[in-house]
Amino acid sequence: MGSGLAESERLVLAVQAAAEMPSDFDSFNRPRLSPFTSAFVFMNVLQLLKRQLTIARVYGIPVRIDYRWFVVVGLSVWLIASNLQNHAIQVGNVRLPPHAQLTSWVLGLITTAGLFLSVFGHELAHALMARAEGIETEEIVLHPFGGLARLKSEPQNPRAEFRIAFAGPASSFVFSILAFAGAKVAAVGNYEPTAVVFFLIGSGNLLLALFNLFPGYPLDGGRVLRALIWRRTGDIKDATRKAGICGILIGGMLVLFGIYILVSPNWRPSEPYFMGVWSILVGLFLLDTAIKVVKSAHATGLVTVSEAMSPPVAVEPGLTVTRFVDDVLSLHRQTAFPVAVSGQLHGILSLEDLKSLPRERWSTTRVQTVMRPVSPGFFVPANTTLDSAQAMMKQNGIGSLAIVDAHGKLVGFLQSGNIKPRRNGKHR
Ligand SMILES: [Zn+2]
Repeated sequence: MGSGLAESERLVLAVQAAAEMPSDFDSFNRPRLSPFTSAFVFMNVLQLLKRQLTIARVYGIPVRIDYRWFVVVGLSVWLIASNLQNHAIQVGNVRLPPHAQLTSWVLGLITTAGLFLSVFGHELAHALMARAEGIETEEIVLHPFGGLARLKSEPQNPRAEFRIAFAGPASSFVFSILAFAGAKVAAVGNYEPTAVVFFLIGSGNLLLALFNLFPGYPLDGGRVLRALIWRRTGDIKDATRKAGICGILIGGMLVLFGIYILVSPNWRPSEPYFMGVWSILVGLFLLDTAIKVVKSAHATGLVTVSEAMSPPVAVEPGLTVTRFVDDVLSLHRQTAFPVAVSGQLHGILSLEDLKSLPRERWSTTRVQTVMRPVSPGFFVPANTTLDSAQAMMKQNGIGSLAIVDAHGKLVGFLQSGNIKPRRNGKHR
C-alpha cells in the first residue's frame, strides 16, 4: 500500500468528497439544513422563493410556508378586495351592494386569513387522523396550491389510507357548513361585512373539499380511490398506478380547461386570466406529481431487497480509522459501511459521523467508537420489500440498511443513493 503524503492527502479529500456527496440520503434527511447540500443548490430567485420558513408548531408538528406563499396571499387579498369593491354580492336572499375601498381591503385580508386557516385545518385533519393510525407527521407545508401533510411513513393498510385521506375533505366540509351557518346568522342580524367574510370562507372550504375529492392521485380523492382498489385487489402497486393515471387525466383536463378559459370568447368569468392561468398551473402541478407516482409504481414493483442489495463491504470494529480510509474507503466509495465480525452485525459506520473526528486522531481511533451501534432501524431480512426498506432508510438517519438472512448473518447492503427508482410518491 504505497501511501506517501500525497496519497493520504488524496484520501482525506476522498472522505470529504464522499461525505459531502448530495446523495438521496442527504436530500431525504436534511434538505434545508446541510450546508453541503445547499452548496450544490443553484441559488437563483426561484430557489429563494422555495425556501421554507417554520411559522408554528401545532401538536408538535412544524408548520412551514415558502416565500411564494406571500405572493399568493397578496393575490388573494387583492382579488377579494377588488371584487367586493366593484361587484354586488348575493348572500342567500340578501343582495349586498359594493363596499367602500377601505372596507373591501380589510375584508379581503380577514377572508384570506380565514382561508389560510382553512387550508391549515384541512392538513391538520390529515395529520391528526394519521396520528390516530399510528403514523407521525414530519411537517405541514402550505404551498401556493394548497397544503401538504408530509407523513413519516406510508399507511400500512387500505383502511388507514382511506381514513387519513378522507379526513381532509371531511374537515373542509364541516368548516364550510359552519361558515355558511355563520353567514346566515350574520345576514339575519344585518352584520353585512361579517356575512360576506363567512360566505366567502364557506365557499372556499366547499371548493377545497370538492376539488380534493377528485379521484386522481395525489389529490385526496385519488388516495381514497387507491385505498378502495388496494382493498379489492390487495395490490398496492397496481392501485397506486391506477390512481396515478386518473391523476394524470385530471391534471390534463385542468390544463385544457385553463386554456379554454383563456381563449374562449363565449364564456368569460369575472377574472378570466387569473382563473385560466391558475387552472393551468394547478393542472401542471398535478400532472407532474401524478406522472412521478405512476413512474415509481412501475419501476419499484414488488421487488425485495435481496434483488436490489449489493454484497456487503464489512468493516471490523477493531480497525483504526486510518486503516479504514486506506484499505476500505479507497476501494469502495460508499457513504456508509456495515461493521461486522464474522457475519454478525455490530453497527454502521457513516462517513457523516467520521467528518467530526479530527484527522490527528484517525490513527488511534477504532471504528467501533465512531460507528452507530446496531439498532432495529439499521437492518432488515432479505425478503423485505424494497418499498418498506426505502421508507426505513429515510428514517434511520444513515440512508442505508444492512441486509441479514434468516440466521441474522449479514448478507448484503443497501444504500438509498444506489437504488434506481428513487422517488416514492409521498405527496398528499
Ligand atoms: Zn387533503
